[in-house]
Amino acid sequence: MKKFAFNRAETLEDAVSAGASAGVRFIAGGTNLIDLMKENVERPDRLVDITRLPLGEVKRQADGSLSLGALVSNAAVAEHPLVRGHYPLLSLALLSGASPQLRNLATVGGNLLQRTRCCYFYDLATVCNKRTPQTGCAARNGINRQHAILGHSQACIAVHPSDMCVALAALEARVRVLGRQGERTIPIADFHRLPGNEPEFDTILRAGDLITAVELPSNDWSEHSHYLKIRDRASYAFALVSVAVALQLDGEYIVEARLALGGVAHKPWRLESAELALRGQRTSNSSYQRAAETLLQGAEGFEHNRFKIELARRAIVRACAEAAKGTRR
Ligand code: SF4
Repeated sequence: MKKFAFNRAETLEDAVSAGASAGVRFIAGGTNLIDLMKENVERPDRLVDITRLPLGEVKRQADGSLSLGALVSNAAVAEHPLVRGHYPLLSLALLSGASPQLRNLATVGGNLLQRTRCCYFYDLATVCNKRTPQTGCAARNGINRQHAILGHSQACIAVHPSDMCVALAALEARVRVLGRQGERTIPIADFHRLPGNEPEFDTILRAGDLITAVELPSNDWSEHSHYLKIRDRASYAFALVSVAVALQLDGEYIVEARLALGGVAHKPWRLESAELALRGQRTSNSSYQRAAETLLQGAEGFEHNRFKIELARRAIVRACAEAAKGTRR
C-alpha cells in the first residue's frame, strides 16, 4: 500500500475544501476504499476522515420525506423504525447485502460510492479501462459471468454492486450533495453513470463533492414491495440479478408500479415504460412478463453471462408476484 497523509475534517466546509484537491479521498466506514488501497487500485495521497461531521441522523423533513444522513450505517438504516415501517423495500435490500459486520461499518454515502467488484478491476496484472483509462477491458473476452447485460459499452461491461441503490432507484430517492458551489440535490436516476467511453467515472460527482444525505420521498409503497436477490450463495455474495419492486394495488389491479434491477448494468436499471406496462393491469404472471420484456429490451450478454437475461426475466415475474402478496416484514 502506498503511504498517505491523514487528517480529520472538523466542518462540512473543511471537508469540501480538502476534497477538492487532487489525490484526496474521503473516508468513513472504509469497507471498500481500504480494500482498494491494499490492492493498489486506489492510491490516494491523503485521506480525509469525515466521521466527525454532523451527518449521522435519520429525520423526517417538513415535506414528509425521510432524510438519511450520509454517515448513518447500513445496519442502522435497515433497522430504523421509520424505514422498516414506510420503506421496507430499502430495509430488505440492505439486509440482503454484505455481512452484519460490514453493515455495521458501511455508511449510506459509502454504499452509493462503492466500486464495481469486476475481478479484473482489482487485478493489476490485467488491463482495465475503469482502473487505467484507455488500456482495454479484460472482462469482454475473459470471465464475465457477473457482468452487465444492459447499458454496457465497448470500454466497460462492469456492474454496480450495491443492493441499497437498487431499492433507492425504485423509491426515487434523491442524493443531497455539498460542493464548492453550494448544496444541490440529484435524483438517484442521474447519480450513477453508464460507462460509455469514460468508465473511470461511476457517478456525476465532481472533485470536492460531499454526499450529505439521501432523501426518501413520502410515498405509498410499503404494503406491496419486495426485494429479490439471486446470487451464487445464500449470504455475503453480490447479486447475479436483483429486483426491487413496489406496487400500489386496487384489489386485483395495479394502480402504480416501481421496478428496478441490480446486477445487470453499470447503474441500477429502471425504465418508466416497464412500470407503465404494469399500470392498470391485473396482478398476473402475464402482466409481469410483459413488464419484464420491456425492462430487458436490448439486453445482450457475453460468453459466460447470457443466462442472466432469462434469469432476470424470471426474477422480475417472481418478485412482482411476491410483492402483490404483501410485503414480508
Ligand atoms: Fe475494467 Fe470494466 Fe472491463 Fe471490468 S468490465 S475489466 S471494470 S473496464
